[in-house]
Amino acid sequence: MEELTVSIIIPAYNEGTNINTIHKELKKEFSSLRYDFEIIFVDDGSEDDTLTRVRTLALEFPEVKYLSFSRNFGKEPALIAGLQHAKGGSVIIMDADLQHPPSLIPELLEGFEEGFQQVVARRNRVKESKVRSSLSSLYYKLVNKLAQVDLVDGEGDFRLLGRQAVDAILALSEGNRFSKGLFSWIGFDKKVVKFDNVQRDEGNSTWSLVDLFEYGIEGVLSFNQRPLRLVFYAGFFIMGLSLVYILIMFGLILSRGVEVPGYFTTISSILFLGGVQLISLGVIGEYVGRIYMETKRRPHYLIKESNTERETYEEME
Ligand code: UDP
Ligand code: MG
Repeated sequence: MEELTVSIIIPAYNEGTNINTIHKELKKEFSSLRYDFEIIFVDDGSEDDTLTRVRTLALEFPEVKYLSFSRNFGKEPALIAGLQHAKGGSVIIMDADLQHPPSLIPELLEGFEEGFQQVVARRNRVKESKVRSSLSSLYYKLVNKLAQVDLVDGEGDFRLLGRQAVDAILALSEGNRFSKGLFSWIGFDKKVVKFDNVQRDEGNSTWSLVDLFEYGIEGVLSFNQRPLRLVFYAGFFIMGLSLVYILIMFGLILSRGVEVPGYFTTISSILFLGGVQLISLGVIGEYVGRIYMETKRRPHYLIKESNTERETYEEME
């Protein structure tokens, strides 16, 4: 571990057009800082020329490290891979698409020097489409309600982690990862630095709405059992309701005799309870599925090519 080195981790999936630019900007930024830096590009199985560009860059510049996955594993595995290979006393995680301005790095490092293990860049939502920003604020409301972690809108993965925080993250062995939650879970002193949202320069966001939705489910499920409890309460509530209904009907039958055929009510209650049961099963299934995945202990990613070695952890068991 090198105290005065900052490891910049950049997950990149089809970011060929951005690789050179981000390297140039980082180099410029660090020329006026007293820190050394290494960039770890994690090529997440890109189908474009990301790997060739990174490889070429690495030949010319010693600070450029790269890992290339055997296929697209997703941003989360790319992040861990980067963290596992980072040699710096601090780590900065940023996107390849220049939505995370390198000009913020001095401020992040200032926070680190003040003793913060997490310095988080919080994005002000400007210039973003109405739909997307209201969707994401809804997303945060939901996830925060359901999960017991505290996620803040605009706080993404763009952040600096001190060595202690990095090692804490790496010590978490779970396979289904939800970084935003994990960052909040590990704690440590945290400082927030603000920046204005930047539009993507090249290429498109690789996250579809479906991805976001699935990410939300991941966030809720990987953090607690509250959905299970919710379903339990729902079941309890509905059972109570139907008990009341049965008593009332019984009373009516006693006083007036059978006059309602009861077809509609029977069918509707069967359908309703069936629905509740399916939901419960689905939720339980989610957890069971997760347990199943965790028990397999598959590696988070497979490396096809790289010019760096794992620093902190030899092998994830
Ligand atoms: N990314 C990745 N693997 C993926 C999807 C995305 O490594 O499967 C990277 C991507 O190259 C970028 C970062 O994760 O550097 C954020 O992706 P994107 O800009 O598409 O997401 P958004 O900014 O919309 O959150
Ligand atoms: Mg982006």
